Amino acid sequence: MNKILNLLLPILRLILNHEKLQKQSNNWNDSPIASKKTETLRSEIPIPETVEKPLFFHPVRIVSERVTSPYGYRTLNIDGKAVRQFHIGTDFGGSGPVYAVEDCIVTKALSADKKYPVRFAKRDQTWVDLIKSKEIPAGRAWTPYVILKGIHTGNEYKYKHVDPSVEVGAEIKAGSEIGRSGNFGYSMGAHLHFEVWVNSKTVDPLKYLKSLELVK
Ligand SMILES: [Zn+2]
Repeated sequence: MNKILNLLLPILRLILNHEKLQKQSNNWNDSPIASKKTETLRSEIPIPETVEKPLFFHPVRIVSERVTSPYGYRTLNIDGKAVRQFHIGTDFGGSGPVYAVEDCIVTKALSADKKYPVRFAKRDQTWVDLIKSKEIPAGRAWTPYVILKGIHTGNEYKYKHVDPSVEVGAEIKAGSEIGRSGNFGYSMGAHLHFEVWVNSKTVDPLKYLKSLELVK
């Protein structure tokens, strides 16, 4: 019994620690104003009766070379301090249209803060948090986003720093535009932060897209 426990404990610790990390990494939207403004789908998602061979698309049109920050541990320089964090998505640099990976239902959406679109500014080689420096009121410059639930896989796709062009509850065809990425919210330059959740856990989006043969 003890032997089994000794074997299992490190694995358990790893799993628990990973879940904690995933929760901590959701620091991009801690604003009560943002949660009030967020639209959320309340009803169940219908399962289609006939599933044809589903199509899958990359979330941006110009692909792999535009990855500006991969999935995994990274260190950012914020307010003159090195901040180490687990990055639970893949960043694709640039502003422009983003697309549904598969046929999806929009389950959550939040529009950009038009008055205070972005929270960070680069000054003297560091990123200044404009809420901490009191240049932006607390709770503003939230991160706009769209969350889609895949009809064929049941997986969740989170598109952050994206101003949505779709409404909650809408059924979206694979490959259609769902909004535009930009330098919005908890952001240090225009990009799409893209997450893939399988069975309520994040996976490396690039590996996921590779498994669908959407990235070489
Ligand atoms: Zn990111």
